[in-house]
Amino acid sequence: MSECRSLIERDSEVLWHPYSPLVGPDPLVVQRAEQEFLWLEGERKIVDLISSWWVNLHGHGHPHICKRIAEQIQTIDHVIFAGFTHQPAIELAERLLRHLPAGQERIFFSDNGSTAVEVAIKMAIQYWRDENQDRKLIAVLSDSYHGDTVGAMSVSARGLFTDPFRDLLFDVVVLPRPESGTQEFLDALRSALTSNRLAAFIYEPLVQGAAGMKFMDAEALNQGIELCKQHGVLCIADEVMTGFGRTGRWFASDYMSSAPDLICLSKGITGGVMPLGATSCCALVADKFRSSDRSKSFFHGHSYTGNPLACAVGLASLDLLERQQTWDDIERISARHRQAALELVGFNTISEVRTLGTILALNFKSSSAGYLNSLGPKLYSFFMSRDLLIRPLGNVVYLMPPYCTSNESLERGYQALREAAAKGDF
Ligand code: PMP
Repeated sequence: MSECRSLIERDSEVLWHPYSPLVGPDPLVVQRAEQEFLWLEGERKIVDLISSWWVNLHGHGHPHICKRIAEQIQTIDHVIFAGFTHQPAIELAERLLRHLPAGQERIFFSDNGSTAVEVAIKMAIQYWRDENQDRKLIAVLSDSYHGDTVGAMSVSARGLFTDPFRDLLFDVVVLPRPESGTQEFLDALRSALTSNRLAAFIYEPLVQGAAGMKFMDAEALNQGIELCKQHGVLCIADEVMTGFGRTGRWFASDYMSSAPDLICLSKGITGGVMPLGATSCCALVADKFRSSDRSKSFFHGHSYTGNPLACAVGLASLDLLERQQTWDDIERISARHRQAALELVGFNTISEVRTLGTILALNFKSSSAGYLNSLGPKLYSFFMSRDLLIRPLGNVVYLMPPYCTSNESLERGYQALREAAAKGDF
């Protein structure tokens, strides 16, 4: 019995994997990860074309990142962040603020994307409590996804992921997502604003990831943000997936002239190497908390807040993002995606192809949409049989590769997409 077989048996006895039924196909044991490749048992080499759930930016095992972790562990492993601070957290906050859209002033660290969202929601609610205004409602976009904790689920679309918890979730105002040319979004927002009860508007700027890489109109979203600002409603950009170059700019919010008041970050913040979340806020929000009255503290924190290793890795990832080579790679991948999209659009099995930055997404024609669409697992197996990690969201297939991905690996991905589109019938 190979070592991996016994690992799988042990795994099946003790582990529970995310977004997977407890009884289902065996997971694959990864033995090594380097650049865009994962090595499995028997030296099987898989191309990670989804950046290991959208987190990895610079490739696995990047030497610069590995060096920074090794250096950091020599000095501080982890320390309490209430009442104490350290250089990696301070420098990471300073450098993030330099790159974030204008007006961001302060960074609050947490552990992941969902907590970054929870922090933003709680900051917005406490902001209005301290304004002595009864504003507790959050406006959200239809089809949105902001994470799996209860607050993050509350501001996400109700459906498959949230059904068992439906009764626990707080009410929100759902706005139609701003698709190209639609006035519906702005009209619904205007009507919601008249109640004077909106605390905040949260959105995934330009791309709704988990909903199936749905794109939206930047100008309509921009107008929505402006409307909110006119009414003092705080705008929360969830850049957990779109941040750090994914859409071709540092942040998707950079495509819009109106800047958000709060920004949620995670995934690519450490290049996909250490868990870290961050919520930034503008002076308007921070000022509301500027008090020595202890009861006005922001009562939120996690044991691993500001973890020095995670912050050091964040700094290493920023070093790489500040290199021209990274942006050349982002542009190289974006240009190749655009070319591949032109070829894929001709297949009659495909209903839509779209691309923005390093994201390429296509919808396979199907009588039903949604995460549980049976096409998803079939397409997944089809790509895995070609040693490509591409994990469809129902009938939506997308590539979101690390920025180091070679042209050869990209071409293998496009070729598999073309073959899947030509086959059509799964
Ligand atoms: N917001 C967005 C836009 C996301 O895509 C995700 C994760 N896919 C989250 C929040 C939650 O992040 P995490 O899985 O790290 O909790």
